This record gives sequence, structure tokens and C-alpha cells, in this order.
Amino acid sequence: MARARKPTPAPPQPSAEAGSPASAWPLSARERSLVSRRLLAWFRRHGRDLPWRRDAQPYRVWVSEIMLQQTQVERVCDYFRRFLERFPSVERLAEASEADVLAAWQGLGYYRRARQLHACAQRVVAEHAGRFPSTVAELSALPGIGRYTASAISSIAFGRPEPIVEANSRRVLARLAGYDRPLSGTAGDGPIWEIAAGLVPARQAGLFNQALMDLGAMVCRPAAPSCTACPLARHCVALRDGRTDELPRLATPKPSVAIEEVALLVVHDGQLLVVQRGEAEWWAGLWDVPRAAGPLGPLRRAAARDGRLLGEVRYGVTHHRVRVDVVQLPAEAAAAARATVADGSRSPASALGVALASEPAATAWVSLSGLAALAMPSPARRILELLTSPLPASPGEHISSSSISA
Ligand code: SF4
Repeated sequence: MARARKPTPAPPQPSAEAGSPASAWPLSARERSLVSRRLLAWFRRHGRDLPWRRDAQPYRVWVSEIMLQQTQVERVCDYFRRFLERFPSVERLAEASEADVLAAWQGLGYYRRARQLHACAQRVVAEHAGRFPSTVAELSALPGIGRYTASAISSIAFGRPEPIVEANSRRVLARLAGYDRPLSGTAGDGPIWEIAAGLVPARQAGLFNQALMDLGAMVCRPAAPSCTACPLARHCVALRDGRTDELPRLATPKPSVAIEEVALLVVHDGQLLVVQRGEAEWWAGLWDVPRAAGPLGPLRRAAARDGRLLGEVRYGVTHHRVRVDVVQLPAEAAAAARATVADGSRSPASALGVALASEPAATAWVSLSGLAALAMPSPARRILELLTSPLPASPGEHISSSSISA
């Protein structure tokens, strides 16, 4: 049985194109050229002035595109400037330590991007003499560069006629062509890539792609698109059919998964015990306090026996909802913990033993002044805010290398 369609009001008519019928898709060559010209003209007047657009060198385009994955444009602007000051070239980034790159990335989240950025810089220097390749195939062979990022660099930095599909342009293209199937945001978006490939012009492809993204961000917004201000209104199937509120159709999101953990704040002799996240974990390479997921009951009992429950921290990671009970060990238990960590015995009977059972990449004792310099994910910093007995500051004292154990 056909799905009942929600009745929609008559579509608003765009002022400049009033009375013009929408183009039939797929578009003729002449209409594709019109779409391109209208979009570029709109972009010249209304496009966003973003720091990485002032000089579209491959290095700058690449850094901005990696930062923009899962982070809002407004937030990225500041980070981009600071990152470029610290690492002004791909060579400088390649020769930096991973710890420095992670520290510069702090606050942007999704730290895997920073590690891949660093690995990619080293490959570009080692295999391409510090010059980014220009083709999608070569770019896609580099760490952390997927189809979208490769096409963005190739078109924006090198002017190649490569299409792009990201959140904003995907929405514009789906509405423009009246694409009616659910969008997944991944491999299922193949038809949208084909629509994009059919529109991208042979010249000024980079500007065209950036214009498409800006149109999605500023005019063809998810809710209540400003069709009367849209330069592509004449070509838009969703507008013609009164379906701008129905399209694009989105795939059903993954159900969220609840995770419960206990975090342990272990303070001894003015230092806090921290662990470095392992390769297979979220935030690999970053520092955190010891914690463990698992059956909350036994952990809770162990935590209650070993320490004091300070409160809880909640946050989301991808489609996971994480709740962390934060426990601080009393002084005697912390002293015993120091000996435990030092001799490598990690009794599963203690809360700390359970927390360290996940085999962190390294453990370290860090003073308060050292904590500020550590690359830590923001949930770890929120956990530390619950620390009720602040560590005495020890200026100049950071991680003692002798205290790090892998
Ligand atoms: S803003 Fe309106 S007319 Fe323009 S592409 Fe989006 S839905 Fe179509």
C-alpha cells in the first residue's frame, strides 16, 4: 500500500524566478551550466569569509577539512588559526611529536583525527617530498583522507572537477533533485555522489563545491529553508513539489547504547595517577584517569569499599551515552595503589585493579601543573573538576619520566 503523504501547503514562489517551472531532472547541459553560474554568482556575494579560504594551499585546505569533520565551522576558525601558527607547514607538523599535535588538538574532540593528521603529514613528507598529490586516488591513499576529503582537496586546492558530498551539500542536492530515498551519510549515498558529479563544472569546481556547502549552511537549512532567497529555486524539485519539509529523508539513526563506568581519582604525595589510552580505545594516545566499564554492581561495591563517591559525569560519544561514577581513593588506599601500580600487581579484588585491567598504554603520576599540559579528552577534565582535595601545585614539575610505565 502506498505510503500516505503528509499534505503540504503550496510552495512559496521564489521572488526572482516567480512563475518559472522547475527544471526536469536530470538536467540538460544548458541547465547544469545555469545552476553553476547562478550558484557561483550567489557565492561571490554571500559566501562565508573563512580563514582557510583566503589562501587555498593544499596544506591549509587539508587541515581545515579534517578539523571540520564533526566540528562546527565557528569553533574550527579559532583552532585553525592557532594550529597554523604552531604548525605552519606540513614539514613542521610531520616533525612534531604526537603529544604536541594532540595537545594542539585539545578541545576539538575526535582525537583519532589528530593522530591521522600527524601520520598523514609524515607520509606526505616521506613519500611526496612535502607536496600533496592532486588526484583523488593518490589523496585517498593517505591516512585519514576519505572520499569527501580527497575530493575537497583536489577540487579546492587543485581546481580539479571532483564532486563533494557532505552534510550541507547532501541536503541541497537531495532537495534539488527530489531524491526520495533515505540518506545514510555513508556508502548508501552513492546516488547523491552521482548527482553531485553531474553538476560540478569543469572550471571553478572548488568554488562551486564551497558554494554548495555554503548554500546548505545558510539558505537550504535542515528546517525551514529560505527558498525565496535561493539562487537554485528554479531548478529545485523539492520546492516545485512542495516537499522541502520532507526531503531529504534520513536513515533511521542507530539506537543509542548506554555505558556505565567507574573513574578513580588516586592522589598520592601531591600527584594524580593517570593512564594513557590504548590503541583500541576511544581517545587512543590521550591521558585519562583510571576507569573501567563493566557490570556496575561489583565495581560500585569495590569503589564504595575503597573510596568516596564524588559524583557522576555524563557525556555522549558517537551513539553511546556514557555515565561515569567518580570515586576518590582515601590517602591510605592511594598509597597502597602507588605500590600496586609500581610493582605491576593489579588485584582484580580492588577497584583500581579492575580499572587497570584494561591494560592502558602507560600509567604516570602527574602534579597539578603537569595536568594542564597533558592531552586529555574533555570528559576526563570534567571528571577532574570533581576532585575535592586539590593537588598542591608544584611549579615546573610535570610527568616524571621515571614514573611512566608502559
Ligand atoms: S533552499 Fe529551497 S529552493 Fe533552494 S535548494 Fe533548498 S529546498 Fe530547493
